[in-house]
Amino acid sequence: MKRDIGLFGKQTYDLLVIGGGINGASIAHLAARSGIRTALLEKGDFASGTSSRSTKLIHGGLRYLENFDFELVYESLRERAVQLKTAPHLVKPLAFLIPVYRGDRRPLWMMRFGVFLYDLIAGPYRVAPHQSLTKEKVLELEPGVKREGLKGGVLYYDAQMDDARLCLENVLSAAEAGAHVANYAEATGFLKANGRAEGVKAVDVLSGAEFEVRAKRIVVAGGPWTNGLLRLDDDHAKKKVRTTKGIHIVYKDRLSDRALFIPSASDKRIFFVIPWLGHSLIGTTDTDYVGNPDQAGAEPEDVDYLMRETKRVFPRLDVSPAKILSTFAGLRPLVRKGGSANKVSRKHLFHESPSGIIFVVGGKYTTYRAVAEDCLRRIFKDFRPVKPFTVYGGGMVAENAEVIADGCGLEPGIVRSLMDLYGGRYRDVLALVEKAPSLAEKVSDDPPVIKAQLAYAVEAEMARKPEDVFMRRLPLGSLGPVPDGLQKTAEQFLI
Ligand SMILES: Cc1cc2nc3c(=O)[nH]c(=O)nc-3n(C[C@H](O)[C@H](O)[C@H](O)COP(=O)(O)OP(=O)(O)OC[C@H]3O[C@@H](n4cnc5c(N)ncnc54)[C@H](O)[C@@H]3O)c2cc1C
Repeated sequence: MKRDIGLFGKQTYDLLVIGGGINGASIAHLAARSGIRTALLEKGDFASGTSSRSTKLIHGGLRYLENFDFELVYESLRERAVQLKTAPHLVKPLAFLIPVYRGDRRPLWMMRFGVFLYDLIAGPYRVAPHQSLTKEKVLELEPGVKREGLKGGVLYYDAQMDDARLCLENVLSAAEAGAHVANYAEATGFLKANGRAEGVKAVDVLSGAEFEVRAKRIVVAGGPWTNGLLRLDDDHAKKKVRTTKGIHIVYKDRLSDRALFIPSASDKRIFFVIPWLGHSLIGTTDTDYVGNPDQAGAEPEDVDYLMRETKRVFPRLDVSPAKILSTFAGLRPLVRKGGSANKVSRKHLFHESPSGIIFVVGGKYTTYRAVAEDCLRRIFKDFRPVKPFTVYGGGMVAENAEVIADGCGLEPGIVRSLMDLYGGRYRDVLALVEKAPSLAEKVSDDPPVIKAQLAYAVEAEMARKPEDVFMRRLPLGSLGPVPDGLQKTAEQFLI
């Protein structure tokens, strides 16, 4: 799939979407599949904002039960079922264990009731039944956790995803359905006639060339950048988004085979230790952030907090900052409300400005398909989503990795990892190897990557910079600095 900025000046679109995070990507995807002439502009790379910096859970959100947000939990659990079915290569069931200690703010009976209610609300969308665990069972499953004061625990199920790729697959699906999409294309101003917005001025961030895009309707899915985009439309617009920062640590050791859901000792927040790429993902924090969204980063105090809490939970394991592979920070674009950040509902809403632009506000990753559908129903009164919902990599891969590997001369582990990453599109990568056998060369063991994947990221997935390849098309960059040689190999394909 090629990025072609020249296409944008040639027609008036039915719909222009600003922002290529999960919300913008899915709105463009659903719109294009329904025959709406759609354009999508993203100022950085697709998913380079919040949508590659989440905790990577497709979940109802057990903790939202505390806020009595039952509607959001139900909607999320329903969407979890949709995602597990439609993107099984990117969204996988995951067991969560909650160890409960004497003196915890949420005692064992409350946790047992919480997971019972969670499964009850899920009804037919339940992944697998929850379990109550004795202290002995918790220690059998998680021998590394703190023993002192342990009362027991609960086990329940949610799902884990690859957020950057799921977003990318929505962009690719949109493009495949006829949408014109571009990364590194920034909207810099709105074109208006009689007070109504009828397009944007934009700049190709890579070449500096300016261009215009005209559309009958405009949606801004700007995530943490929404307040700035509101002001671009109207100098006097009030802020609608409250941004709170959450950081994660990618940690070398696989601390557990399941996710641990842990109340922190210092501020009673919840944080997770989750198996990720054979290692662990530890996060997150939740602190108000008022600076430039482009500059949010993981500060040493954020990292110390998570390391301290992880060490407290696993006193017998060698938890050390030396094993931090990388850190990343994301900004939650929450509906602007006062009070504690973790009490603000993650339910989305839409704001229509006097010039007719629809701004997407709030939401969580899990509900992206529902957000897109709601948004399009609001704009196009006769909108009917095309069913069934599918994403680029498609449903379950039926082929056997060993058999395929035998036929193409690749290691079975490589074929399996291609199936995991690309779903049914793994065949496109194999087709590249068939055409140019030198692309079968392995360029990384952890995670396993072959050269063809670098070529594929550029030729078929619109990567424009090495970081697009390593941070979002492939998970290499989150496991530490990418070796120079590998950077250079990727650059050869980018020329
Ligand atoms: C720490 C953290 C953990 C989270 N964990 C989870 C989780 O486990 N599960 C879950 O369901 N949700 C989670 N969320 C929430 C979820 O990640 C977000 O709700 C979601 O990613 C927001 O997507 P978005 O498309 O609205 O925003 P973004 O992904 O930020 O997309 C907005 C895009 O707009 C682009 N943009 C801005 N200005 C312009 C312009 N002028 N022109 C063109 N493009 C522009 C930006 O570059 C950006 O890519 C988490 C959030 C955070 C911060």
